[in-house]
Amino acid sequence: MPLANAINGRTKLVGVMGWPVEHSLSPQMHNAALAALGLNHCYVPLAVAPERLRDAVAGLRALDFVGCNVTVPHKQAVREYMQEISEEAQAVGAVNTLVRRGDGWAGYNSDVPGFLATLANTRFAPTTATEEGFECRGKRTLILGAGGAARGIIYALARSGATVVIVNRTPSRAEALAREMSLLFPGAALEALPLTPAALKKEAETAHLLVNTTTVGMWPETAHSLWPDELAYPPHLTLFDLIYNPLRTRLIAQAEAAGARTISGLKMLVYQGAFSFRWWFGVMPPVDVMYQVCLNELAANTRFAPTANTRFAPTKR
Ligand code: NAP
Repeated sequence: MPLANAINGRTKLVGVMGWPVEHSLSPQMHNAALAALGLNHCYVPLAVAPERLRDAVAGLRALDFVGCNVTVPHKQAVREYMQEISEEAQAVGAVNTLVRRGDGWAGYNSDVPGFLATLANTRFAPTTATEEGFECRGKRTLILGAGGAARGIIYALARSGATVVIVNRTPSRAEALAREMSLLFPGAALEALPLTPAALKKEAETAHLLVNTTTVGMWPETAHSLWPDELAYPPHLTLFDLIYNPLRTRLIAQAEAAGARTISGLKMLVYQGAFSFRWWFGVMPPVDVMYQVCLNELAANTRFAPTANTRFAPTKR
Protein backbone atom coordinates (compact mmCIF):
# COMPACT_ATOMS: atom_id res chain seq x y z
CA MET A 1 0.00 0.00 0.00
CA PRO A 2 1.61 3.32 -0.98
CA LEU A 3 1.88 6.06 1.62
CA ALA A 4 -0.71 8.81 1.52
CA ASN A 5 1.68 11.48 0.37
CA ALA A 6 5.40 11.71 -0.15
CA ILE A 7 6.74 12.29 3.35
CA ASN A 8 8.67 15.52 3.76
CA GLY A 9 9.83 17.81 6.53
CA ARG A 10 6.33 19.22 7.06
CA THR A 11 4.49 15.87 7.29
CA LYS A 12 2.38 15.51 10.48
CA LEU A 13 1.41 12.25 12.12
CA VAL A 14 -1.79 10.49 13.14
CA GLY A 15 -2.06 6.83 14.04
CA VAL A 16 -3.65 3.96 15.92
CA MET A 17 -2.43 2.44 19.19
CA GLY A 18 -3.21 -1.23 19.79
CA TRP A 19 -1.66 -4.48 20.96
CA PRO A 20 -1.42 -6.15 18.54
CA VAL A 21 -2.07 -3.65 15.80
CA GLU A 22 -0.83 -5.46 12.68
CA HIS A 23 -4.34 -6.51 11.66
CA SER A 24 -5.75 -2.98 11.68
CA LEU A 25 -7.29 -1.63 8.46
CA SER A 26 -7.15 1.93 9.79
CA PRO A 27 -3.73 2.86 8.32
CA GLN A 28 -4.85 1.90 4.82
CA MET A 29 -8.21 3.61 4.98
CA HIS A 30 -6.97 6.81 6.62
CA ASN A 31 -3.94 7.14 4.35
CA ALA A 32 -6.21 6.70 1.33
CA ALA A 33 -8.46 9.49 2.63
CA LEU A 34 -5.48 11.75 3.39
CA ALA A 35 -4.16 11.18 -0.13
CA ALA A 36 -7.57 11.87 -1.68
CA LEU A 37 -7.76 15.20 0.15
CA GLY A 38 -4.10 16.09 -0.45
CA LEU A 39 -3.34 16.46 3.27
CA ASN A 40 0.33 16.26 4.23
CA HIS A 41 -0.18 13.77 7.06
CA CYS A 42 0.71 10.13 7.55
CA TYR A 43 -1.30 7.61 9.60
CA VAL A 44 0.88 5.00 11.29
CA PRO A 45 0.26 1.79 13.29
CA LEU A 46 1.59 2.04 16.85
CA ALA A 47 2.11 -1.24 18.70
CA VAL A 48 1.81 -0.28 22.39
CA ALA A 49 2.15 -2.89 25.12
CA PRO A 50 -0.39 -2.35 27.94
CA GLU A 51 2.30 -1.41 30.48
CA ARG A 52 3.61 1.32 28.13
CA LEU A 53 0.29 3.05 27.54
CA ARG A 54 0.98 6.06 29.76
CA ASP A 55 4.36 6.65 28.10
CA ALA A 56 2.83 6.19 24.67
CA VAL A 57 0.13 8.82 25.27
CA ALA A 58 2.73 11.26 26.56
CA GLY A 59 4.90 10.41 23.55
CA LEU A 60 2.12 11.29 21.12
CA ARG A 61 2.10 14.82 22.47
CA ALA A 62 5.87 15.02 22.48
CA LEU A 63 5.94 13.93 18.84
CA ASP A 64 3.27 16.48 17.93
CA PHE A 65 0.69 13.95 16.72
CA VAL A 66 -2.45 15.60 15.41
CA GLY A 67 -4.63 12.81 16.80
CA CYS A 68 -4.74 9.10 17.39
CA ASN A 69 -7.12 6.14 17.35
CA VAL A 70 -7.07 3.65 20.18
CA THR A 71 -8.04 0.02 19.84
CA VAL A 72 -8.03 -3.20 21.81
CA PRO A 73 -6.91 -3.55 24.58
CA HIS A 74 -6.46 0.15 25.42
CA LYS A 75 -9.93 1.66 24.93
CA GLN A 76 -10.83 1.61 28.62
CA ALA A 77 -7.40 2.16 30.17
CA VAL A 78 -6.56 5.18 28.04
CA ARG A 79 -9.34 7.20 29.72
CA GLU A 80 -7.07 7.73 32.68
CA TYR A 81 -4.69 9.84 30.58
CA MET A 82 -7.29 12.19 29.05
CA GLN A 83 -7.71 15.86 30.03
CA GLU A 84 -11.38 15.51 29.17
CA ILE A 85 -13.74 12.82 27.90
CA SER A 86 -16.79 13.32 25.70
CA GLU A 87 -20.22 12.50 27.07
CA GLU A 88 -20.57 9.57 24.65
CA ALA A 89 -17.18 8.09 25.48
CA GLN A 90 -17.95 8.50 29.17
CA ALA A 91 -21.28 6.70 28.83
CA VAL A 92 -19.90 3.91 26.66
CA GLY A 93 -16.87 3.54 28.91
CA ALA A 94 -14.42 3.46 26.00
CA VAL A 95 -12.29 6.01 24.17
CA ASN A 96 -11.23 5.19 20.62
CA THR A 97 -10.18 8.63 19.37
CA LEU A 98 -7.76 11.14 20.89
CA VAL A 99 -8.19 14.75 19.85
CA ARG A 100 -5.70 17.48 20.84
CA ARG A 101 -6.78 19.72 23.72
CA GLY A 102 -4.18 22.26 24.73
CA ASP A 103 -1.17 20.33 25.91
CA GLY A 104 -3.10 17.07 26.31
CA TRP A 105 -5.87 14.97 24.84
CA ALA A 106 -9.65 14.80 24.76
CA GLY A 107 -11.09 11.28 24.48
CA TYR A 108 -13.96 10.58 22.07
CA ASN A 109 -15.84 7.50 20.92
CA SER A 110 -16.58 7.31 17.19
CA ASP A 111 -18.43 3.97 17.31
CA VAL A 112 -21.66 5.68 18.40
CA PRO A 113 -21.87 8.17 15.50
CA GLY A 114 -20.31 5.57 13.19
CA PHE A 115 -23.07 3.07 13.91
CA LEU A 116 -25.83 5.67 13.54
CA ALA A 117 -24.35 7.08 10.32
CA THR A 118 -24.21 3.58 8.87
CA LEU A 119 -27.88 3.04 9.63
CA ALA A 120 -28.83 6.46 8.31
CA ASN A 121 -26.81 6.23 5.12
CA THR A 122 -27.38 2.66 4.08
CA ARG A 123 -29.32 2.32 0.89
CA PHE A 124 -31.17 -0.90 0.89
CA ALA A 125 -30.24 -2.05 -2.59
CA PRO A 126 -31.13 -3.54 -4.94
CA THR A 127 -34.91 -3.76 -4.77
CA THR A 128 -35.46 -0.67 -2.66
CA ALA A 129 -32.59 1.45 -3.88
CA THR A 130 -34.44 4.70 -3.40
CA GLU A 131 -35.23 4.02 0.23
CA GLU A 132 -32.65 5.57 2.48
CA GLY A 133 -31.75 4.99 6.03
CA PHE A 134 -33.20 3.20 9.01
CA GLU A 135 -35.12 5.51 11.32
CA CYS A 136 -34.51 4.26 14.87
CA ARG A 137 -37.20 6.18 16.74
CA GLY A 138 -40.04 3.92 17.78
CA LYS A 139 -38.41 0.81 16.32
CA ARG A 140 -37.88 -2.42 18.22
CA THR A 141 -34.29 -3.61 18.14
CA LEU A 142 -32.79 -6.91 19.18
CA ILE A 143 -29.13 -6.90 20.21
CA LEU A 144 -27.07 -10.10 20.26
CA GLY A 145 -24.31 -9.69 22.83
CA ALA A 146 -23.49 -7.53 25.84
CA GLY A 147 -19.73 -6.99 25.45
CA GLY A 148 -17.69 -3.90 24.64
CA ALA A 149 -19.16 -3.20 21.21
CA ALA A 150 -22.72 -3.72 22.45
CA ARG A 151 -22.36 -0.81 24.89
CA GLY A 152 -21.93 1.75 22.11
CA ILE A 153 -24.70 0.24 20.00
CA ILE A 154 -27.19 0.11 22.88
CA TYR A 155 -26.30 3.66 23.94
CA ALA A 156 -26.85 4.87 20.35
CA LEU A 157 -30.17 3.07 19.95
CA ALA A 158 -31.57 4.03 23.36
CA ARG A 159 -30.62 7.66 22.78
CA SER A 160 -32.29 7.53 19.37
CA GLY A 161 -35.60 6.43 20.85
CA ALA A 162 -35.55 2.76 19.89
CA THR A 163 -36.76 -0.06 22.11
CA VAL A 164 -33.77 -2.27 22.92
CA VAL A 165 -33.89 -5.95 23.81
CA ILE A 166 -30.46 -7.34 24.76
CA VAL A 167 -29.98 -11.08 24.32
CA ASN A 168 -26.78 -12.55 25.68
CA ARG A 169 -25.24 -15.95 26.45
CA THR A 170 -24.41 -14.68 29.93
CA PRO A 171 -27.73 -13.16 31.02
CA SER A 172 -26.26 -11.27 33.99
CA ARG A 173 -24.12 -9.17 31.62
CA ALA A 174 -27.18 -8.24 29.57
CA GLU A 175 -29.12 -7.37 32.72
CA ALA A 176 -26.30 -5.21 34.08
CA LEU A 177 -26.01 -3.36 30.77
CA ALA A 178 -29.76 -2.78 30.55
CA ARG A 179 -29.76 -1.41 34.12
CA GLU A 180 -26.82 0.87 33.42
CA MET A 181 -28.35 2.28 30.23
CA SER A 182 -31.72 2.75 31.97
CA LEU A 183 -30.00 5.10 34.40
CA LEU A 184 -28.70 7.17 31.48
CA PHE A 185 -32.03 7.15 29.63
CA PRO A 186 -34.73 6.86 32.31
CA GLY A 187 -37.61 6.83 29.83
CA ALA A 188 -36.02 4.30 27.46
CA ALA A 189 -37.44 0.82 26.92
CA LEU A 190 -34.63 -1.65 27.67
CA GLU A 191 -34.95 -5.38 28.34
CA ALA A 192 -32.50 -8.22 28.89
CA LEU A 193 -33.04 -11.88 28.03
CA PRO A 194 -30.96 -15.05 27.97
CA LEU A 195 -29.87 -16.19 24.52
CA THR A 196 -32.21 -19.08 23.68
CA PRO A 197 -33.90 -20.16 20.43
CA ALA A 198 -37.28 -19.48 22.07
CA ALA A 199 -36.30 -15.90 22.98
CA LEU A 200 -34.96 -15.26 19.48
CA LYS A 201 -38.09 -16.64 17.86
CA LYS A 202 -40.45 -14.58 20.00
CA GLU A 203 -38.50 -11.33 19.86
CA ALA A 204 -37.75 -11.58 16.14
CA GLU A 205 -41.46 -11.58 15.36
CA THR A 206 -41.88 -7.97 16.46
CA ALA A 207 -38.36 -6.56 16.10
CA HIS A 208 -37.36 -4.38 13.14
CA LEU A 209 -33.58 -4.57 13.51
CA LEU A 210 -31.23 -7.32 14.67
CA VAL A 211 -27.66 -6.28 15.55
CA ASN A 212 -24.99 -8.90 16.05
CA THR A 213 -22.40 -7.43 18.40
CA THR A 214 -20.87 -10.80 19.31
CA THR A 215 -17.71 -12.33 17.93
CA VAL A 216 -19.60 -15.40 16.69
CA GLY A 217 -19.03 -15.91 12.95
CA MET A 218 -15.83 -13.92 12.84
CA TRP A 219 -12.87 -15.19 10.84
CA PRO A 220 -11.55 -17.88 11.19
CA GLU A 221 -14.68 -19.39 12.84
CA THR A 222 -16.78 -18.47 9.84
CA ALA A 223 -19.08 -21.51 9.92
CA HIS A 224 -20.73 -20.30 13.15
CA SER A 225 -23.92 -18.29 13.59
CA LEU A 226 -26.09 -17.54 16.60
CA TRP A 227 -29.21 -17.87 14.50
CA PRO A 228 -30.46 -21.47 14.97
CA ASP A 229 -30.68 -23.55 11.79
CA GLU A 230 -34.11 -24.80 12.75
CA LEU A 231 -35.52 -21.27 13.03
CA ALA A 232 -36.54 -19.49 9.83
CA TYR A 233 -35.01 -16.01 9.62
CA PRO A 234 -37.88 -13.49 9.32
CA PRO A 235 -37.64 -11.48 6.07
CA HIS A 236 -38.87 -8.28 7.77
CA LEU A 237 -35.93 -8.24 10.21
CA THR A 238 -33.04 -6.04 9.00
CA LEU A 239 -29.71 -7.47 10.07
CA PHE A 240 -26.69 -5.37 11.03
CA ASP A 241 -23.69 -7.62 11.66
CA LEU A 242 -20.80 -5.73 13.27
CA ILE A 243 -18.38 -8.35 12.03
CA TYR A 244 -16.58 -7.29 8.85
CA ASN A 245 -14.31 -10.27 8.30
CA PRO A 246 -15.76 -12.12 6.58
CA LEU A 247 -17.89 -9.49 4.88
CA ARG A 248 -20.61 -12.05 4.37
CA THR A 249 -20.92 -13.87 7.67
CA ARG A 250 -22.96 -17.01 8.01
CA LEU A 251 -25.62 -14.92 9.78
CA ILE A 252 -25.71 -12.47 6.86
CA ALA A 253 -26.05 -15.40 4.47
CA GLN A 254 -28.99 -16.74 6.51
CA ALA A 255 -30.73 -13.34 6.50
CA GLU A 256 -30.08 -12.80 2.79
CA ALA A 257 -31.42 -16.24 1.95
CA ALA A 258 -34.64 -15.24 3.72
CA GLY A 259 -34.82 -12.01 1.71
CA ALA A 260 -33.99 -9.70 4.65
CA ARG A 261 -31.96 -6.52 4.36
CA THR A 262 -28.41 -6.78 5.64
CA ILE A 263 -25.68 -4.33 6.64
CA SER A 264 -22.04 -5.35 7.00
CA GLY A 265 -19.84 -4.10 9.83
CA LEU A 266 -17.36 -2.81 7.26
CA LYS A 267 -19.54 0.24 6.69
CA MET A 268 -19.49 1.01 10.38
CA LEU A 269 -15.73 0.55 10.47
CA VAL A 270 -15.44 3.14 7.72
CA TYR A 271 -17.91 5.59 9.27
CA GLN A 272 -16.34 5.43 12.72
CA GLY A 273 -12.99 6.13 11.06
CA ALA A 274 -14.56 9.01 9.16
CA PHE A 275 -15.77 10.65 12.38
CA SER A 276 -12.29 10.41 13.92
CA PHE A 277 -10.93 11.98 10.74
CA ARG A 278 -13.44 14.82 10.94
CA TRP A 279 -12.56 15.50 14.58
CA TRP A 280 -8.89 15.82 13.61
CA PHE A 281 -9.12 17.65 10.29
CA GLY A 282 -12.51 19.36 10.34
CA VAL A 283 -13.69 17.74 7.09
CA MET A 284 -15.59 14.54 6.37
CA PRO A 285 -13.29 12.24 4.36
CA PRO A 286 -14.40 10.35 1.22
CA VAL A 287 -16.04 7.30 2.80
CA ASP A 288 -16.39 5.55 -0.56
CA VAL A 289 -12.62 5.68 -1.07
CA MET A 290 -12.04 4.35 2.45
CA TYR A 291 -14.57 1.58 1.95
CA GLN A 292 -13.01 0.44 -1.31
CA VAL A 293 -9.54 0.33 0.24
CA CYS A 294 -10.84 -1.84 3.08
CA LEU A 295 -12.58 -4.16 0.64
CA ASN A 296 -9.34 -4.56 -1.28
CA GLU A 297 -7.36 -5.23 1.87
CA LEU A 298 -9.81 -7.81 3.15
CA ALA A 299 -9.89 -9.55 -0.20
CA ALA A 300 -6.09 -9.66 -0.33
CA ASN A 301 -5.59 -10.77 3.25
CA THR A 302 -8.22 -13.47 3.42
CA ARG A 303 -6.47 -15.22 0.56
CA PHE A 304 -3.69 -15.98 3.02
CA ALA A 305 -3.76 -19.25 4.88
CA PRO A 306 -4.16 -18.42 8.59
CA THR A 307 -0.66 -19.23 9.71
CA ALA A 308 1.19 -17.77 12.67
CA ASN A 309 3.34 -15.83 10.24
CA THR A 310 0.58 -13.86 8.57
CA ARG A 311 -0.71 -12.67 11.96
CA PHE A 312 -3.83 -11.41 10.26
CA ALA A 313 -6.19 -11.45 13.22
CA PRO A 314 -9.25 -9.67 11.83
CA THR A 315 -10.91 -8.72 15.04
CA LYS A 316 -10.97 -5.11 15.99
CA ARG A 317 -10.17 -1.88 14.26
P1 NAP B 1 -16.41 -8.69 23.57
O1 NAP B 1 -16.41 -7.52 24.48
O2 NAP B 1 -15.44 -9.78 23.80
O3 NAP B 1 -17.90 -9.30 23.60
C1 NAP B 1 -18.17 -10.51 22.96
C2 NAP B 1 -19.66 -10.82 23.02
O4 NAP B 1 -19.86 -12.01 22.24
C3 NAP B 1 -20.20 -11.12 24.43
O5 NAP B 1 -21.52 -10.67 24.53
C4 NAP B 1 -20.15 -12.66 24.48
O6 NAP B 1 -21.10 -13.24 25.33
C5 NAP B 1 -20.51 -12.98 23.05
N1 NAP B 1 -20.05 -14.31 22.65
C6 NAP B 1 -18.76 -14.68 22.40
N2 NAP B 1 -18.72 -16.00 22.07
C7 NAP B 1 -20.00 -16.45 22.11
C8 NAP B 1 -20.60 -17.70 21.86
N3 NAP B 1 -19.88 -18.76 21.48
N4 NAP B 1 -21.93 -17.82 21.97
C9 NAP B 1 -22.69 -16.74 22.33
N5 NAP B 1 -22.18 -15.51 22.58
C10 NAP B 1 -20.84 -15.37 22.47
O7 NAP B 1 -16.18 -8.24 22.04
P2 NAP B 1 -16.46 -6.80 21.41
O8 NAP B 1 -15.29 -5.94 21.64
O9 NAP B 1 -17.79 -6.35 21.91
O10 NAP B 1 -16.51 -7.12 19.84
C11 NAP B 1 -17.55 -7.88 19.29
C12 NAP B 1 -17.50 -7.84 17.77
O11 NAP B 1 -17.81 -6.54 17.29
C13 NAP B 1 -16.16 -8.22 17.15
O12 NAP B 1 -16.40 -9.07 16.07
C14 NAP B 1 -15.63 -6.90 16.66
O13 NAP B 1 -14.76 -7.04 15.55
C15 NAP B 1 -16.90 -6.20 16.27
N6 NAP B 1 -16.78 -4.74 16.19
C16 NAP B 1 -16.95 -4.16 14.97
C17 NAP B 1 -16.88 -2.80 14.86
C18 NAP B 1 -17.08 -2.17 13.52
O14 NAP B 1 -16.75 -0.98 13.34
N7 NAP B 1 -17.63 -2.87 12.57
C19 NAP B 1 -16.63 -2.00 15.99
C20 NAP B 1 -16.46 -2.62 17.22
C21 NAP B 1 -16.54 -4.00 17.31
P3 NAP B 1 -20.79 -13.46 26.91
O15 NAP B 1 -21.08 -12.16 27.59
O16 NAP B 1 -21.70 -14.54 27.30
O17 NAP B 1 -19.33 -13.85 27.00
